[in-house]
Amino acid sequence: MTYHWSLTCSGCPTDAAPDGLPTVCPECGAPWLVRYERAPEPGLKTLLAARPWTMWRYREWLPLLDGEAPVTLGEGGTPLLDAPRLAERAGVAKLWIKDESMNPTGSFKARGLSAAVTRARHAGAQGFTVPTAGNAGVATSAYGRRAGLPVHVFAPRTTPPRILEQVRTFGAELQLLDGHIGDCGKAARAHAAAHGSFDMSTLREPYRIEGKKTLGLEVAEQLGWQLPDAAIYPTGGGTGLIGMWIAFRDLLAAGWVTGKAPRLYSVQSEGCAPVVQAFEQRASRTEPWPNPETVAAGLRVPAPLGGPIILRALEETGGEALAVSDEALSRAADAMATSEAVDACPEGGATLAALHTLVQRGSIGADESVVLFNTGAGWLYRS
Ligand SMILES: *Cc1c(COP(=O)(O)O)cnc(C)c1O
Repeated sequence: MTYHWSLTCSGCPTDAAPDGLPTVCPECGAPWLVRYERAPEPGLKTLLAARPWTMWRYREWLPLLDGEAPVTLGEGGTPLLDAPRLAERAGVAKLWIKDESMNPTGSFKARGLSAAVTRARHAGAQGFTVPTAGNAGVATSAYGRRAGLPVHVFAPRTTPPRILEQVRTFGAELQLLDGHIGDCGKAARAHAAAHGSFDMSTLREPYRIEGKKTLGLEVAEQLGWQLPDAAIYPTGGGTGLIGMWIAFRDLLAAGWVTGKAPRLYSVQSEGCAPVVQAFEQRASRTEPWPNPETVAAGLRVPAPLGGPIILRALEETGGEALAVSDEALSRAADAMATSEAVDACPEGGATLAALHTLVQRGSIGADESVVLFNTGAGWLYRS
């Protein structure tokens, strides 16, 4: 097997070949990051015109073998919508909403799971187990099914009912637990070990980040190979934020775009804000958040494994982490629907609430361009 990538540890100087079913670094337990042998040539841009608008149009940037067909449902290629009314209200020159609710399974989790299931199937996985705050469970169920493999989902009992209904729709086994995603993670790992199933937990395998990286590639292409000044991302486990950090850095290094990497902003809920706490204390890792509570299910991640990488991405790009209240994020989600007709999830609403705070603080200027990420569909959260 000739892979055009290898794995490099995010926490210590260990490298590995991507054989078998990689999990985390065996030396230090930190997540792996993927490193490619060479960066795709900017000349490849001309090939893109003839390719379908799914995330796999960037196959040279992704962990896909020569001639290999990915496990796909047409994920990616979501609209980057101009939001002039919200831009004016917030006081920024240019505002876009990357509407990830248009993905298969209704959230951007589709990107990560398409990549991760593709690699795990190739490596011979016999089934998948996933702990979830909601949308990762739906996406794992769908992509697992697409690969013809069984899926077992562990979710908090408090997960929005329609999300749970979607998990069942794709035929996964669903186990509801008291507690949060961390509690589900323990149960999921025990189940995976006992049943020979592969654990798809956030950052416990290297490829969900690679799928999420396409968020950054797509934004750059949709802006005509230009980068925005800032991007605001609702952060739970942080895969999308880490993926975009890598995407923008690699696009710049490979000469596909020029200028400066966008400042990345992490928004969390006041009811679960471990990244914000660490950022404000200038710590290099997050502390577990006691009693996480928020209506934004995807942000209810009290102890993200990728905390140190998220903090590095914020620091390196000159961004920030900030928390907004559940009330503010819910109101902002409504505003996205009523002023720009984007049916935003609560997590998506959080990015708009954060934008207002960042402009007031002077962190984002009136002449700047900003991308907000509506990471999932609002209807999934209504009962
Ligand atoms: C999972 C999720 C998030 C958080 O994403 P991470 O990559 O885990 O930070 C945000 N919004 C929605 C809708 C999600 O499902």
